[in-house]
Amino acid sequence: MKAVVVEEFGGPEVLQVHEVERPIPGPDEALIRIKCCGVCHLDLILRSGMRSRVKPPRILGHELAAVVVEVGKNVRDFLPGDRVTSFNFQACGQCADCLRGRPSLCRQTLGDIGQTRDGGYAEYAVLLASNLVRMPDGMAFEHACFAACVYGPPYKAIRSVGKIQPGQTVVITGASGGLGMAAIQITNKLGARSIAITSNARKVDHLKALGAHEVVISADGAFGDEVRQLTNGRGADLVVELIGSPTFYGSLRSLAPGGRIAVVGELYGTPVEINLGLLIIKEFELHGVQSANREELQEVLQFMHKNSIEPTIWKTLALEQAAEAHRELANREVVGRVLLVP
Ligand SMILES: [Zn+2]
Ligand SMILES: [Zn+2]
Repeated sequence: MKAVVVEEFGGPEVLQVHEVERPIPGPDEALIRIKCCGVCHLDLILRSGMRSRVKPPRILGHELAAVVVEVGKNVRDFLPGDRVTSFNFQACGQCADCLRGRPSLCRQTLGDIGQTRDGGYAEYAVLLASNLVRMPDGMAFEHACFAACVYGPPYKAIRSVGKIQPGQTVVITGASGGLGMAAIQITNKLGARSIAITSNARKVDHLKALGAHEVVISADGAFGDEVRQLTNGRGADLVVELIGSPTFYGSLRSLAPGGRIAVVGELYGTPVEINLGLLIIKEFELHGVQSANREELQEVLQFMHKNSIEPTIWKTLALEQAAEAHRELANREVVGRVLLVP
């Protein structure tokens, strides 16, 4: 089969198509034929060698959608022909956290797709069947492939953490990134009001077109007062915090009494200070949000399909153009996702 194999770390030029053996599924695994695979910012980091878990040779790609070709003898949930997408990582399925339905907390992961296990920059892949989720009938592969990585965390932030109802207000930091745009779409479909925070003035029109009710341009993270003005002094019910420490104080300042912050991203790992008295008086809630689990991913897929939520696809390229795909994504003017199709 054809696959883009990272044989050594480096720039986009290390992404070359090779002819490799088609993998054979073990008893608990499935062989899948990749229909498409999103190119994630994480892939750029992995390719450069900054994440130690990847050991070349490795096939990148965790944002995949595929058709099941063959299943191992223990696999009961899937049949050849099933249309599937996957989680990004493989929890053990047996530890206390896995058993209580919190696989994102598993410490004994069997691997992350496209990191410690080969992923979707290829014609075929072998994954654990427990990592696959069936796509809704009629949903496009090029939409489903983004459910886990792009829509999963904001969905969890807005629905599970925020419990957002029509008419409530959601602030989204890092709104012009992939997760930010997904958060705007989800908020909009729930009938809630979104206030998108971005540092990039050139992306305002696109954010509005996606359904953002207000767009605040802020390069310094001090958008809290503006959010208060936009909400008649009350503040927002939820902040989807996608940037982390650089915007955290603005997020805190944006909150209405009883408001929640769902921290989905942290770009720098810089500690922040919180006045706990404020937390008590205002009954603020602070939540960390990891990737969606199986049930949540199923829900995300249904929600996207039912509400016709479609990711913005910037470009679709062939496997042979993987290097170009990485160059495109490194370019900050890209709006939306870059997709590889074998
Ligand atoms: Zn991703
Ligand atoms: Zn586990």
